[in-house]
Formats: sequence, C-alpha cells, structure tokens
Amino acid sequence: MTMTVDKTQLAQLNDSDPEYLLRWAWDMGKERAAILTSLQNTGSVMIDMARRVAPELRVAVIDTLRMPRETYALIDAFEERYGITIERFKPDPERLAMMVNRHGEYLFFDSREKQEFCCRVRKVEPNQRALDTVDVWITGLRRDQSEKRMATPKAGIVVQRDRKIIKLCPLADWTEEAVWSYIQEHDVPYNPLYDTGYTSIGCEVCTTPTLPGEEKRAGRWRWMNQLEKKHDKECGLHIDGAGI
Ligand code: SF4
Repeated sequence: MTMTVDKTQLAQLNDSDPEYLLRWAWDMGKERAAILTSLQNTGSVMIDMARRVAPELRVAVIDTLRMPRETYALIDAFEERYGITIERFKPDPERLAMMVNRHGEYLFFDSREKQEFCCRVRKVEPNQRALDTVDVWITGLRRDQSEKRMATPKAGIVVQRDRKIIKLCPLADWTEEAVWSYIQEHDVPYNPLYDTGYTSIGCEVCTTPTLPGEEKRAGRWRWMNQLEKKHDKECGLHIDGAGI
C-alpha cells in the first residue's frame, strides 16, 4: 500500500502537536506505522506518549549490536514498564562478517568512508529493512539537535527504495528543556548516560560526552574532527530531504 497526503494535509500535520501526530499515524497506518527510535531522550518521550494516545503503535530500534549496555537495559525497562515488545532490526550477519573480516572491528577510525560503510552495514541497511515494513515513519529528530537539522519539518514525504513514505518528526520543534520536563513530569525511563555528560547516544565506541557550548551531536565520531574540518555528525539514516 502507498499512503498519500496532499499539501494541505501536510501543512495541517506540520501545525499539529505530537499527541495528534502519533494518533494520526496509528489511525492512518495501523501496523504500517512505527516509531523507529535509537532511544535518545526524544524516543523516551514518544514511547510514553504513544502508550497514552495510540497504545498499539509499533516501536522498533535499530540494534547495531554495538550499543552501550545502558541502551540495551533501557529497551528492557520500556518493555517491562509498558508491557510492549520493542522490535529490533539488526545488521545482516553475512554483510557484517564480510565487513569485519575485510576491514576489522574498528574500521571507522581509519576514514570517513569506512565510518560511513560501518554505519551503512550496522544502521542504514537495517533501517531500510525496517522502513520496508512501514508507510508512516516516526522519528525523534529535533531542530535544535544540530545545524544540519535546523529545518526539520514535523511531517514530510520521503522516498525510500523508490517508494514514498510519510515521515513524521512529532518533536521537531521541542527544545531540550521541554523534553526533559516531559520525562520528569511523567517519570519516563531514559538512558542514564545523559546524567554523565552525554547529549546524544549512539554506538558505544563512537560516542563521547559533550562539553558545555558544543552541539548536542558533537560527541559522536569525535575523532573525525581531526580527520576533516567539518564532519556533519550524521550516520546516513536521515539524509533524505525531509529536513536534512
Ligand atoms: S556509529 Fe560507529 S560502530 Fe556504530 S555503525 Fe556507525 S561507525 Fe559503526
């Protein structure tokens, strides 16, 4: 099924609040709609919100097999608290073995090309498989996360493998403060690494805490700062025209 929305509907969606967008996703897509999250603090908010407004909405993570143990524990915490099963999309074992055998476990330290290759095998390809299962893709992108994400719309159409899907970023216009207020007010589980200086959390070895004044994604692939003047701090999941 290909789901379509016209410009007027898109404009309305871009004016809507997160609860409405999550409910709309469920009403429109049912099992063809899903929150695909890497369990940043925005993922915590959306999972909690969805339990209230669209309890059957699917939740899925891209499990790179290199996430910090705190992130795996958070998946368990959500499943236990909300009685849900979080789907996990993982790298293709053959592709992964081929990459590691040929380039080593830590290939990403060598060059941008190898970092992008690793992100492709561990994140982008599993994400594409996840996207094959949806017509409405819900993500936690926010405009204040980086310069690159400043124009992120709440709703857009993206093309994935020659197929149009609706991409929703319900919290696009939320601030960091609003996210943490929600988490505290609703006592939502979140990744404890945020309490130790991390402001964006990806694979364990590729993520470091950030310093005051740095962009929220500055701690990702930090060594790339030495290899090139300006690394865009993106892994390729969201280079799709819907905001970035
Ligand atoms: S974040 Fe690092 S370990 Fe994870 S997929 Fe990308 S390069 Fe590989």
